[in-house]
Amino acid sequence: MRAALWLLTLAILALQACSPPSKPSTGAPAETLASLQPAPEGTLQVAFLDVGQGDSALITFPNGRTMLIDGGEVEQGRALVRKLERLGVRQIDWLVATHPHSDHIGGLIEVLRTLPVVEVWDIGMPYESPVYRDFLRAVQRARTPDGKRPKFRIVRRGLTLEPSPGVRIRVLAPSEPLLQGTRSDPNNNSLVLRLDAPEASFLFVGDIEREGRKRLYAARENLQADILKVSHHGAANGTDRAFLKRVRPKVAVISVGAGNRYGHPHRETLALLRNLRVYRTDLHGDIVMRLGADRKLYIATTRTSRMSPTATTTRAPAPTFAVIGNRRSKVYHAPDCPGLPKPENQVRFRSAQEAEAAGYRPHTCVEGE
Ligand SMILES: [Zn+2]
Ligand SMILES: [Zn+2]
Repeated sequence: MRAALWLLTLAILALQACSPPSKPSTGAPAETLASLQPAPEGTLQVAFLDVGQGDSALITFPNGRTMLIDGGEVEQGRALVRKLERLGVRQIDWLVATHPHSDHIGGLIEVLRTLPVVEVWDIGMPYESPVYRDFLRAVQRARTPDGKRPKFRIVRRGLTLEPSPGVRIRVLAPSEPLLQGTRSDPNNNSLVLRLDAPEASFLFVGDIEREGRKRLYAARENLQADILKVSHHGAANGTDRAFLKRVRPKVAVISVGAGNRYGHPHRETLALLRNLRVYRTDLHGDIVMRLGADRKLYIATTRTSRMSPTATTTRAPAPTFAVIGNRRSKVYHAPDCPGLPKPENQVRFRSAQEAEAAGYRPHTCVEGE
């Protein structure tokens, strides 16, 4: 019964263009959802799903079609499919992989195995990893509702879609040629898309970092959006003041795992978001946003957070495990990193801080994907 009432009792955030900007109480949680529920017909629902350290969001359009953006790590696959079932999903119309990192595509493998998928969107960036290989194999084996092979599309800036009358999707990135030689090319080439409904707009930016943002500015795309899926799990390289000035979001969502080893979300990012309404999957669980027929945005979460989502004291301390540096590349790795330097090039440090003081930069296995 409680679940049936949640729409009525939710905290309301009006987003009509003409309404005066409300002073949102920072991150005060909306109503707590007993469990995930299917979106009522005729509403637009965006569910940011808690997949631990990773990203996943399901969009249900007013006509019932669905778009799944990312799916967390491989280990999250089964739990993700169960969540999709609770959300009433019977097929995925657009399965979107923002970039080939495992914390974004891993869980999509189980989705491709379990649910009919009509179309797969990928950035088509050459990338060597067992998870990406398994993902491509799962795409090959997946089926549409009528038993055919899903359409595999390598998407670029400019692609537009009207998934449901009055709702528009536009791909803002990547564009040709893909970026190369950045700190993380997969992150910077992330698929960026905006969703425009008459009542509100959403911006999904994957894990883009500085170079990816510069590309977006150069393309002169409209970046303004009411709701921002914060880049790169709240890492400092994913968000800056200039970007937020362009997006001007009212609500920010950080998809991040509790107690992750990278210290995401970073203190600097939380400070920048301090005046917004912030939701975090590590604190709020699944975050469901629904645009009702009354043109208002309703937000509900599956967990109530007692912690302020922008309190910088919530930041986990920087990793304190011993790290291994590569004396040639001046990059340091976590001890369990799959790509450790050759033994003759290894230098040991007691902590990341010690390595950085010696002029070493963190490898992706320390900074996170
Ligand atoms: Zn990434
Ligand atoms: Zn990521």
